[in-house]
Amino acid sequence: MNLARLISETAAKYADKPAIVFAGKTWTYRDFDRQVQNYATNLDRLGIKKGDRVAVQLPKCVEFLFFHFAILSIGAISLPLNPDYRPEEIVYFLTDSGSSLFVTTSDRLSKVRSAIQHLSELKILLKEEELPTTEEAVLPKYSAGGDDIAMICYTSGTTGRCKGAAISHHNLIANMRALHQAWEWSDRDILLHVLPLFHVHGLNVAALGSLYAGSTMLMFEKFEPRQVWETLASKNCTLFMGVPTIYQRLINEWAKLETQSELRKMRLFVCGSAPLSDQQFYQFENITGFRILERYGMTETGMNASNHITPEHRKAKSVGFPLEGVEIRIVDRDGNDVAIAEVGEVWIRGANVFQGYWGMPDKTAESFTDRWFHTGDLGFQDPDDGNRLYLVGRAKELIITGGFNVYPKEIENVLESHEAVKESAVVGLPDSDFGEKVVAAIALKEAINITPEELITYCKSRLAAYKCPKQIFFVTEIPRNAMGKIQKNILVQQISTLL
Ligand code: AMP
Repeated sequence: MNLARLISETAAKYADKPAIVFAGKTWTYRDFDRQVQNYATNLDRLGIKKGDRVAVQLPKCVEFLFFHFAILSIGAISLPLNPDYRPEEIVYFLTDSGSSLFVTTSDRLSKVRSAIQHLSELKILLKEEELPTTEEAVLPKYSAGGDDIAMICYTSGTTGRCKGAAISHHNLIANMRALHQAWEWSDRDILLHVLPLFHVHGLNVAALGSLYAGSTMLMFEKFEPRQVWETLASKNCTLFMGVPTIYQRLINEWAKLETQSELRKMRLFVCGSAPLSDQQFYQFENITGFRILERYGMTETGMNASNHITPEHRKAKSVGFPLEGVEIRIVDRDGNDVAIAEVGEVWIRGANVFQGYWGMPDKTAESFTDRWFHTGDLGFQDPDDGNRLYLVGRAKELIITGGFNVYPKEIENVLESHEAVKESAVVGLPDSDFGEKVVAAIALKEAINITPEELITYCKSRLAAYKCPKQIFFVTEIPRNAMGKIQKNILVQQISTLL
């Protein structure tokens, strides 16, 4: 099945219902479908065919969605790109994917034009261009089927070349259906959408989920905490999706509200893409009465695990249980299952798992064992709670000091339980004695004075000595990417200059 066909079928069913509200304008499902057909007709006119790659680098806007589903509907492959990418990065993505068409804005094009002029085959389409409209545009032929690639999503990759995860129509459909079942998503839902569209969280979970359900999506270009609190209450929203940074800012904003939002219709706050701390989980519950539902996913696999729809079965720091059709194993370095409750690498198998890295057969082969995808995440399952999954960090971020394993997240949790600490990030730095030493970067809360030594003493009272930071650096801000993930590679560079 072609994903765009499925969405078009929903559109036919809910034709008069608002599908998307953005920048003061509403598109019904009929409008949405007509736009997709129209964009598809224009792509066809430009000669885009099944299997061609179309890179889309746009700010968050409704046209992004028209392009995306139009690309899928004619069997081409959509390549969403972060609007912040710099010219050299754009050149890499366009070249690596062999894109035939680059959809962007005129101001972005002016920055990248000289860098891409050698790509003589590349066509360019600007968002500002008035696309010829056909009254009854019906072109989509849905020439790509379930096993065909629908999207290439470049992973945020912290080292080496970014890898393009090739995701099939079937991967997306299977994952979306699993989420609908797990979160009881229905046409009665109203989603407040504040996430970027170039990332799987905003696109394949939030936007796709809403369009598939026949629900309504209120989309904002930027996340602004006050606007979120006001809109959730005034527009009777039922669903919200965010990353931990967003929830932290919502918590901070709540205290400043003159009248606290009454969330009468709200049923689900979902969080993922980065670890939510237990402080954030409990603080949010204390102020709003809602338990955030944390889920775990990644570009290559879509969503893997989720906490339960029943609030009582949600737990802080846990990402819950495998979604329908997803299998999870925890393995040691040799790929053998670890003993029960031990930490190991999370491996995933299921209809959600991508088809491989675009143009990188060796990388793909390295990342799989018998269809099990090696996530690079470390985690464990709790046998006393139905094998509930907990993540403890990325395998690459594991610190081995004097032969002992240190999971940065455990140390970060302790540091963040101190009243002076706003945020922390723990990394391993080379050390002649220990191989690696534990080092922490800390952003302090304003107006609280504390020394690094005091914080180290605090850690020592709560952690085994080998886990405690040997050095602590105070920083004004912990570097994060657009999805709120801490960029430890950048942090290591920053700290190295301070040593
Ligand atoms: P991305 O491919 O950019 O979506 O990043 C995927 C990675 O984000 C995963 O491999 C995890 O390391 C991390 N991640 C996603 N969801 C969670 C979560 N709920 N808790 C902790 N880490 C998460």
